[in-house]
Amino acid sequence: MAGVIRRLDEAVVNRIAAGEVIQRPANAIKEMIENCLDAKSTSIQVVVKDGGLKLIQVQDNGCGIRKEDLDIVCERFTTSKLQKFEDLASISTYGFRGEALASISHVAHVTVTTKTADAKCAYRATYSDGKIKAPPKPCAGNQGTQITVEDLFYNVNTRRKALKNPNEEYAKILEVVSRYAIHNSGISFSVKKQGDTVSDVRTLSNASTVDNIRSIFGNAVSRELIEVGYEDANLAFNLKGYITNANYSVKKCVFLLFINHRLVESAALRKAIETVYAAYLPKSTHPFLYLSLEIAPQNVDVNVHPTKHEVHFLHEDSILERVQQHVESKLLGSNSSRMYFTQTLLPGADCSSSEVVKSAANSSTVAKGTGDKVYAHQMVRTDSREQKLDAFLQPVNNPLSTGPTEGTTEDNAGPPEGAVRAQDAEMEDVSDLVEMADVQEDTAMPGGLSESGRLSPETVPPRKRPREDADIEMEKDDPRKDMTAACTPRRRIINLTSVLTLQEEISNQAHANLQEMLHDHSFVGCVSPQWALAQYQTKLYLLNTTKLSQELFYQILIYDFANFGVLRLSEGNLIGLPLLIDNYVPPLEGLPMFILRLATEVNWDEEKECFESLSKELAMFYSIRKQYIIDEADQADSQNEDSDSASTTWKWTVEHVLYKAFRNHLLPPKHFTEDGNILQLANLPDLYKVFERC
Ligand code: ADP
Ligand code: MG
Repeated sequence: MAGVIRRLDEAVVNRIAAGEVIQRPANAIKEMIENCLDAKSTSIQVVVKDGGLKLIQVQDNGCGIRKEDLDIVCERFTTSKLQKFEDLASISTYGFRGEALASISHVAHVTVTTKTADAKCAYRATYSDGKIKAPPKPCAGNQGTQITVEDLFYNVNTRRKALKNPNEEYAKILEVVSRYAIHNSGISFSVKKQGDTVSDVRTLSNASTVDNIRSIFGNAVSRELIEVGYEDANLAFNLKGYITNANYSVKKCVFLLFINHRLVESAALRKAIETVYAAYLPKSTHPFLYLSLEIAPQNVDVNVHPTKHEVHFLHEDSILERVQQHVESKLLGSNSSRMYFTQTLLPGADCSSSEVVKSAANSSTVAKGTGDKVYAHQMVRTDSREQKLDAFLQPVNNPLSTGPTEGTTEDNAGPPEGAVRAQDAEMEDVSDLVEMADVQEDTAMPGGLSESGRLSPETVPPRKRPREDADIEMEKDDPRKDMTAACTPRRRIINLTSVLTLQEEISNQAHANLQEMLHDHSFVGCVSPQWALAQYQTKLYLLNTTKLSQELFYQILIYDFANFGVLRLSEGNLIGLPLLIDNYVPPLEGLPMFILRLATEVNWDEEKECFESLSKELAMFYSIRKQYIIDEADQADSQNEDSDSASTTWKWTVEHVLYKAFRNHLLPPKHFTEDGNILQLANLPDLYKVFERC
């Protein structure tokens, strides 16, 4: 049965139409703010109660409404901004339909208090269903307009029920006002709840756009902003705004979009820009964007939706593409400025890494032979040639050098700072440098020695083992003559079968991967005198420094057999000890035990066994141990030095003497992987699985 068609009551028609424009308090506030801006206000204050459902009050200092216009201001299609249909094509004000106030008055009680510049006083009028209820009453008031909206949707049950949560509505209101505040720097905005003394959003008229973004969205956003600006004459549009760089990302995209100064949504534009960011941000994170597009008014269709929220424009695809390109170029530019976060290169570091830095800042340079750009965030500091700053700051009172050698080194009062310098210690060679000396016999100083007597890592070639030269001869020179570093060290060439066999045994035992790890490791820190942490690639290792140093000294003894510098001792029958590596003196309190063990543990009968067991005892005596450290601290105490310096000294020695020597002078035996002397603690990719993107 067909229903009877009846004409709807006019009030109902208006209410339905109003509901199209005003769907929630934030919509009403947006319309009212736009009216304030149209009226050239410089101060806009919003007060709400119950999320705007009970009360919305918007006060401005704009041009006001003439008394004679107050009668019809809330009627539909009354506007001071548009006269003919053709004017729509060049609309530059927010309002143009005369619909907002009318709509609001159909779903709420509206009161307007306003004063123009030339009126003698302000006038107040109240409205219901688009009609003024009584003639405007004169009252006191400043120039500008205050519009009060009470009991929104009092006559629309369904709408009122749908908006049950005042907090949610208030959040929407804050969002709308703060966006307009950011877009309209130079105009002060404030929003607060009725009765509150403090505003929830407040901007000042002299604040910049970035100031406003900072005060509303916080420092985390504002300090990562890049300004964008682009103009396209062909497509007749320009773009301004601020977007976050690749350092910033959040779970939810914040996109403030204004087209011709109107807060709008554009799903197409949002998607286009997010596509660009996807290449720069971690997965499922998003940027902050504030964009203001100005498009020739005749190209924009703002009349799509009653809320004027969705905007379409001519050449949409081309404009989106240009915006995309511009955003991409800005992001790329900002990426090179992320250099701020790289580690500054330290003196002595290989300069090839600084080229990488330069190439990231200036993408025209090619980094490390590859065509790809290397960004700072992709750089990992693993180059073994890079040194830490403290490698150059050798502790002054290094007991390794001062304590045990003071008064024990013959013919040597010791350099003022007490450090044993290679050329000051009596020696005929420095074990580490023997191969250099082999190659560069004419250099007065052994090749790898820097001024301070330390090895510079670039110049020390990796140990070549086994030795390739087969000469069996001792240098003719009297070794005594070579005991000062001023003379060119001459290497004795050893071809004793026993020693060569021992050398071969060492190289047969060597573990290639461990050797690579030791060669390229990054030193992390000392756990104790015995244990230290090192990183290699993505792995973290715990290493037994005592055992590694013991093995190192053993290998030096075997490979550099009879080619050591001498640490001369002044007293007793013991004349000297071999100087195995520079800047390292064995813990001398182990000397009595060492002498004792020479008698009991060394096989003096067989040549090979003798050399082997003697070297083993020496290596054990030389290795860095716990006891050694305690004594060091005692020594520091007795010298009235604070014991901190003792601890920095042994740590320095472990890192810059021992582990540096491990890089090129230790062939780690296979058994280190099994006996727990080198333990892998963690592997970064495994950790990533746990902590991915958090
Ligand atoms: P529109 O903005 O489309 O013109 P509105 O219903 O929003 O329609 O407003 C109707 C008219 O009321 C405006 O054209 C303007 O003349 C006047 N008006 C509204 N709010 C203000 C205000 N805050 N200051 C001055 N005039 C206002
Ligand atoms: Mg308006």
